[in-house]
Amino acid sequence: MERVHDQRLSPVQAFLDSLHAKYAPLTEGDVATYIPELANADPELFGICIATTDGFVYEVGHSRHEFTIQSISKPFVYGLALDDNGPDQMMTKVGVEPSGDAFNAISLHKVTGCPLNPMINAGAIATTGQIVADTPEQRIERIIGMFARYAGRPLQVDQAVYVSEHRTGHRNRAIGHLLRNFEVLTDEPTATVDTYFKQCAISMTCGDLALMGATLANQGINPLTGEQAIRSEHVENVLSVMASCGMYDFSGGWIYNVGMPAKSGVAGGVLAVLPGQLGIGVYSPRLDPQGNSVRALKVCEELSRAWELHQFNPPYCPQNSRRLTYTCAQRNSSRTRHSAERAWLRDEGNSIHVVELQGNLAFSTTEPIIREVVERVGRPRGVILDFHHVTSINGIASRLLVDLARDLRRDGTVVYLTHTHLLPMLRQQVISRLDDPLASETLFRFHSSDSALEQCEDDLLKDRAAPQSPAAAQQFRDYEISSGLSAEELAVFARLLTKETYNASDFIIRHGDEATSLFLITKGVVGVWLGTVGGDGRRMSSFSVGTMVGEMAFLDGVKRSANVVAEGDVECAVFQVADFVGLQASHPVIHTKILRNIGISLATRLRKLNQDVSILSTQRA
Ligand code: GLU
Repeated sequence: MERVHDQRLSPVQAFLDSLHAKYAPLTEGDVATYIPELANADPELFGICIATTDGFVYEVGHSRHEFTIQSISKPFVYGLALDDNGPDQMMTKVGVEPSGDAFNAISLHKVTGCPLNPMINAGAIATTGQIVADTPEQRIERIIGMFARYAGRPLQVDQAVYVSEHRTGHRNRAIGHLLRNFEVLTDEPTATVDTYFKQCAISMTCGDLALMGATLANQGINPLTGEQAIRSEHVENVLSVMASCGMYDFSGGWIYNVGMPAKSGVAGGVLAVLPGQLGIGVYSPRLDPQGNSVRALKVCEELSRAWELHQFNPPYCPQNSRRLTYTCAQRNSSRTRHSAERAWLRDEGNSIHVVELQGNLAFSTTEPIIREVVERVGRPRGVILDFHHVTSINGIASRLLVDLARDLRRDGTVVYLTHTHLLPMLRQQVISRLDDPLASETLFRFHSSDSALEQCEDDLLKDRAAPQSPAAAQQFRDYEISSGLSAEELAVFARLLTKETYNASDFIIRHGDEATSLFLITKGVVGVWLGTVGGDGRRMSSFSVGTMVGEMAFLDGVKRSANVVAEGDVECAVFQVADFVGLQASHPVIHTKILRNIGISLATRLRKLNQDVSILSTQRA
C-alpha cells in the first residue's frame, strides 16, 4: 500500500523540508554504543514523517530507512498487556509514576517491589511478562503481530541488533531476576528478558512510527487499514504513561515545551502523538545525555510551536452541535396539505420540535443541546432529534441523549431519533437503557426527520375539530383547484371528473408517461418518488386530501417527471387536460379560475420551498 505521497506544492511539506534542512547540520550528541550493533548506525541519517488521522503520511529525508524501535516498543507492549489483562491487574504489576531514575535503573517500589512505570526497563520487562502466551515464541509473535496492526504492514526483528543485545544485556537480565525475586515475574525470567530484547529489535521506519502514532491518535484504529490495533479504552492509558514518563529524564521538560505524549528509543527514534490529530515519527541516531535524539527533540519542539500543537492549549473549543432547530409552526414536512390543515399546523405546530445535530457529539458539544431542549420545549408533543449531520458520537453523548429521549417519553412526548443507522453506539445505548423494546422501536421508527415530522403533523391534525378534510360529497367546494367556483360552476366542473380507486403501492403516475390529466386526492395519501419506489429511490414529497398532483401537465404538457404511488387506500378524481382545454371555449370563466387556482397551488409550494431554504440556511449553532 502506497502510504507516502509527493507533496511538493504543499506548505505543510515545505515546512517539514525546511525543518529537515535546518537541523541536518546539527551534529551534537552521540550514537548509542552500549548495544554494540547500534554503534554501527550512520549518524547522519535523519528522517521526519507526519501521519494524519485519515492516514496521510508526509515524509522528508531518510524516512524509509529502517532502525530498531528499542524503547518506543514499551508503550505499545503495555497497551497489549492492558488488552490482555485490564488496567487493574496491570496496576498490581507495574505502576504509572515517573521514576526520576535512568531508563535502565534497578528501580522498584520500596514496598511492593513493582517497577514504577512501564517506560523504564524494569517496568517494560515486567510488562512483557504479562503478555498472554503459552510459549516465548508465541509471545513474540503476538507482539510482532500487534506492531504490524499499528504499522499496517508486516514487521521483523533485526537479528543483528537482537543478537548484539542478547549477548550484552546483563543488566536487563539482572533486572529480570530481581522482578522474579519480588514475584512481579512469576516465570523463569531469562525467556521474558529475551522476548523483551526481541521486541526492542523490531525494525521499522519513521513512516511506520508516524502511522503508529496516528493509530493511537485515532482511538487505536489504523487509519489506513481500519484495523483496531489496541482497544480504544486503553489508548488513554498508553498515552498517559508516554506523557508522564516517555522521554526519559526529560519527560517533564518535553511535555512543558512540546505538549504531546511521546516516546523515544536509544536507536534514535522519537514518536509523538497529538490525540485526535496526528502522529509524528522522527529518526536521527545521535542522542543527548538523557538518551533522546538531539535532532528529533529540535524538530518536535519547533513543529509544536509552529503548528500550535501543544495539547494543553487546543486551538479550538468544541462547538455546540446544534445545527438547526425549528418547530412545525415554522416549517412543515414535505407533505402538501390542504390550506385548512396548513393553517392548523401554523397555529398548533409550536409543540413539535425538530433539532438537527451536527459534528462530533461528546459531552461538551451535547450538553448545550440537552440544555436547550429542556429549556425551550416546555411540554412538547413531539421532539425529533436528527443525526444526519453527526460525524461521531461517544458513549456519554449517546447516554445523555438517550436519557433525554427516555425522560421526554415518560412525560408523554413522542420522540423520534432519525438518521441513526450509522451510529451503532447510539442504537446500542437505546437498546440497553430503554428496557421496553417497543420504546426503542418507536424511537427509530423513521429514517428521515421529514417522515417523522409528517407523522407528528398527522397526529396533531387528528385533534383538529370537524370538519376534517373536505369530502367529495361537497362537490369539491373546498378543493384547492375549485376554490372560488360558484355552485353552478362547481357542478359543471364535477361532471368532468372521473373517480379512480387505488390500493397501497399502486402507481397513479409513472415517470416518463404522457401527462394527460391531474389527480385530485379525495381519500388517502400519495407519495412522490424520484427513482425506484421503495428501493434506492427517494420519496420527495406526498399529497393528501384536498390537494392535487400532476397539475404541471396543465401548464407545459411535458412528460411525467416522477412516480406517484398510493400509500394505502386512495381515491382520486381525475381531471383530463383535454377537458380543461375544452372549458376554454365552453366556460372560459371556469377555465380562468381553475388556471388561477393551479397557479396559486404552485405558488404556495414554491413559497414553502423558499421558506425552507431560508430556515435551513440562516440558522447557525
Ligand atoms: N533495548 C534497550 C535496553 O533495554 C532499550 C533502551 C531504550 O531504548 O531506552 O537497554
